[in-house]
Amino acid sequence: MDIIVQKYGGSSLAEDAQLRAVAQRIARARNDGHGIVAVVSAMGNTTSRLLAHAGRLNANPEHRELDMLLAAGEQKSASLLSLTLQDLGVDAIALTGAQAGVRTCSAHLNARIRNVEPARMREALASGQVVVVAGFQGTSPSGDITTLGRGGSDTTAVAIAAALSASRCEIYSDVDGVYTADPRIVPDAARLRMLSLVEMKALAHHGAGVLNERAIDYALEHGVTIFARKTHGKGGETVVRDEPGAGRTRIVGVASHKALLRVDFTEHADHEDLREMLGEFDLFAPALSEGGRGSYLITTEQIADIPGLTGAISKRFSEGVTIHAPLGAVSAVGRRAGRDPSTLAFARSTLAGADIEVRQAFATEHAVTCLVDPDAVGEAARLFHSSFRITDTGVADVA
Ligand code: ADP
Ligand code: ASP
Ligand code: MG
Repeated sequence: MDIIVQKYGGSSLAEDAQLRAVAQRIARARNDGHGIVAVVSAMGNTTSRLLAHAGRLNANPEHRELDMLLAAGEQKSASLLSLTLQDLGVDAIALTGAQAGVRTCSAHLNARIRNVEPARMREALASGQVVVVAGFQGTSPSGDITTLGRGGSDTTAVAIAAALSASRCEIYSDVDGVYTADPRIVPDAARLRMLSLVEMKALAHHGAGVLNERAIDYALEHGVTIFARKTHGKGGETVVRDEPGAGRTRIVGVASHKALLRVDFTEHADHEDLREMLGEFDLFAPALSEGGRGSYLITTEQIADIPGLTGAISKRFSEGVTIHAPLGAVSAVGRRAGRDPSTLAFARSTLAGADIEVRQAFATEHAVTCLVDPDAVGEAARLFHSSFRITDTGVADVA
């Protein structure tokens, strides 16, 4: 029996009617003879609400305790989806991350999946059950509940698809694929029919939240192809797979972050020490340093407890470290886009021409990035999108 892993995000599960529609879609795939594993996120903005609730009761919450709380959001949707499937007459079983065999490292709130032991899922599939798995969670080597960082259910889906050698890994959200920019920010954005995992990783890293960067890392490591689709209503899809356009250089899209925390250090602080303190986070860019001075940039959505982190840094470093108000970042992303210095110069001049102040600009292998005021991010993204002429089919493989 071939296995399809389908992941449904929080925006697709916000209401009961949506749960029913998801259950019906799963039932159809099941009736077509496929084994189905459905990975679910917490409903709507449950995770953010749970975090805020904890913050009201404790200003400096332990990450282990937060994981216990956050994991409950995904467990609720797994149970409700399984119950909805059963109501439709479909045999289903809901599993926590631990029951599904998702093993992680012990970094609470930002754990990485080490491996998936799929025996329990295989057993349930063999007995004809639809397996509904609570995404975004696993267990640490000491048996504690861990969560995978914001947007982490995508990673659960990819890891389970790899462990089960699934024939397909489908990630459903409120948009019918990966676009040349966030359609909420750039109305002219077009859907990409196909792009490589390397391109998607760069887009995700630079802020295209439609697929999670770590999920793409896992897909790259295990050769998983992802089909990004829309849960409700009609639409197309984007196929994200290993290197369909290897060798081509093209700007595939624009991505942005609204809020990056910038932590500056001077020669008066031990920046290795600082790096260690920030070790649990993925840095947005390599430390931009020169002569002992430099800065680290971290996306604020990775930080569950910003006041806690800034307080700890200030306490540890009495001098030489400054934490700045969040900055925005806008990037033009594409395979090897950062290699040609003229691309960065073009990005800078595009924004300068519209009187948008560029605080800093830099190139990495697959992107050029300008740091701007958070309020300027939308306009800068629209300008990049039109100036780089990304919707030209000669440049990007758009639908
Ligand atoms: P889910 O809750 O299903 O995980 P997300 O909110 O994480 O869904 O991802 C879908 C959202 O990603 C879309 O609503 C869209 O606003 C945003 N997004 C950002 N960049 C892109 C992009 N390049 N293409 C499509 N959607 C994008
Ligand atoms: N519920 C988690 C979040 O909001 C995980 C996810 O949606 O993938 O970040
Ligand atoms: Mg998501």
